[in-house]
Formats: sequence, structure tokens, C-alpha cells
Amino acid sequence: MHSTSAVPGAASRSAAGGGPLATAAVAGSTRAVTGWDLHWSNVHWEYFLPIFVVHALACFAMLPWCFSWSGLVIALVGTHVFGMGINLGYHRLLTHRSLKVPLWLERSLATVALCCLEDTPARWVATHRLHHVHSDEPEDPHTPRDGASWSHVGWLFRRAPDRRTLAFLDKYARDILADRYFRYLERHPTSTLWIYLAHASIFALAGLVVGRFTGGDWAHGVQLGTSWLVWGAFVRTVLVWHMTWSVNSLSHLFGYRTYETGEDSRNNWFVAMVAAGEGWHNNHHHDPASASVQHKWWEFDLTYYEIRLLRRLGLATDIIQPRHLRRVAAPRN
Ligand SMILES: [Zn+2]
Ligand SMILES: [Zn+2]
Repeated sequence: MHSTSAVPGAASRSAAGGGPLATAAVAGSTRAVTGWDLHWSNVHWEYFLPIFVVHALACFAMLPWCFSWSGLVIALVGTHVFGMGINLGYHRLLTHRSLKVPLWLERSLATVALCCLEDTPARWVATHRLHHVHSDEPEDPHTPRDGASWSHVGWLFRRAPDRRTLAFLDKYARDILADRYFRYLERHPTSTLWIYLAHASIFALAGLVVGRFTGGDWAHGVQLGTSWLVWGAFVRTVLVWHMTWSVNSLSHLFGYRTYETGEDSRNNWFVAMVAAGEGWHNNHHHDPASASVQHKWWEFDLTYYEIRLLRRLGLATDIIQPRHLRRVAAPRN
């Protein structure tokens, strides 16, 4: 195994700012294949099939029988709540170590993220750290330079053997694998599927019971249970997917650049709005270690306000401030 991790989490707290993700060495190489060159032999079916099936199941939302106002509300609120598992849990907490939370909360956020079917913590973290180290270079898993739709979703459809090895995880996510629960998830690949099915069943059963007692009979229960399953689980999963994918695609294609970061990251207000602040992506690439991506007063970063709420509740410590504040604070320490 490697003697040094490419992205040691602790070192990203460097007061000098930026951390290893910001200062990582840039390596150039060519990739043999780019873009949508899919064949039966190189399709990553473990990703393609769930993405295809859940999109198909979400289409049932177009049937009037599957609609309920409560289902719609659950889908919209759920997009934010489950999206927090990704934005706050997988991204700012686990990938960038921008804050510390109790172990039970760290694992809970990761479990919420697992209900979004965006891979295991170690693989998500490793892939995103690779993106930061090689942003918009040939090694970047999802650069729009290989095509906009490729960066949005296509990159998930093609097998990437280099990113399926233990050596890759050891290099980019060793700190994640140090956790027993996260290691278990890697050793039992189907556990993610079972967690997803379990949470979808909870939506269906809750709707079934609520519908039975508010509608007066089991027919109402079946209708509401189906609605909550379709909207609360499937539609919401699709919305969270496209929210995350938009950060990879739109925020490297459209928007303004405050910082010259050496790649194509942009601040995109639309993505920031739907992804709870994650669209201020140029700010994030400029200062990946920071828990906040709000560099101007109007660059509203909802995820950071939720981190502050966690701190008020005594559940978050060691919150890494933006680089300019770290510099101001340094002489006082
Ligand atoms: Zn990026
Ligand atoms: Zn990041």
C-alpha cells in the first residue's frame, strides 16, 4: 500500500489555507477514451441499472393516481433533507473534513446519503478528492471538457477499473476506511441496495398506514402508500441525483469566476439555489477546506447555516473558516 495518502484529512486543516486539495500536485497524462464511447463490455451496470430503473419508477409520478399533495411536499422537503446527507455529510464533512461531528451523527449523515444511491462513503469521497486533485484534467472523472452530458451523468455509466481498486481507495479515502461502519459497507456491496430498499419501504408503509386512517379504508392506504413511495423515494432520489450531478456539470460550465483556480469551476446561482449552496463552486475550488462557500453576502450557502445550527446545538466543532478569516485569525493563535 501507499506510504502516504494523497489526501490526508487532518492535513486539510492547515492554517495556511486550502489544504492538500488546494495545493495538490498537478499531474498530466492522456486518457485513452473520453466521452460517450460506451459498449456493452464497458458499461458499469452496477450504476447504470439503478439509475435507469429509478428514473423509470419516478415516471409513475405522471400518473394522477400516484399523485398526492403530501407526496409532493415529502419529495421537495426530502430533496433537501436527503441532499444534506450528500452536501453536508459526504462532501463537507467526510471529503473535506471541514468540521467535526460526533461519530453517531457522522454515520447517520452517511446513512442518509446512502438512501440517495450515490455510492458508498469511501468511493464517493475518493472520487471527489480525485476531482479536486485533477480538476478538468484528463484524470478528472467528470470534467465537462469531455462533454456536458458526460460530466452530468455519462461518466457514471462507463466502467473505471482504476477507481475500483483498493489502492485507489487507500490513496484517496484511507481516513474513511479507518471507520468500521464505512469499511463494512465496502466489504458488503449489496448493503447499499438493502438500505435503499428499506428506506423506500418505510415511505410506502407510512403512506399505507396514514392513508388507511385518514381515508377510511385500505384502498386509500394503498393509493397514499404508492404516492409516498413514488414521490418520497423515487422522484426525490432523481432530484438529488440531478442536484449533485449539476454541481459537476453546470458549475464547471456556466457562471462567473471570482478566482483564477487553474480549472473551469464557476459560481452558478441556479445550482447554488437547488443544491443548498454547493453551486458556489469556484469559491469551493479556491478554498476546498472551508466549511463555508459564501464569499459574498448574497452568495447564500444554506449548508453552512445548517453547519452553524449544528454548532449551536453542540453537535459540530472544529469548523474551518474561509481562508481569509483563517489568515486573520492565525496571528492571534
Ligand atoms: Zn468541481
Ligand atoms: Zn469538494
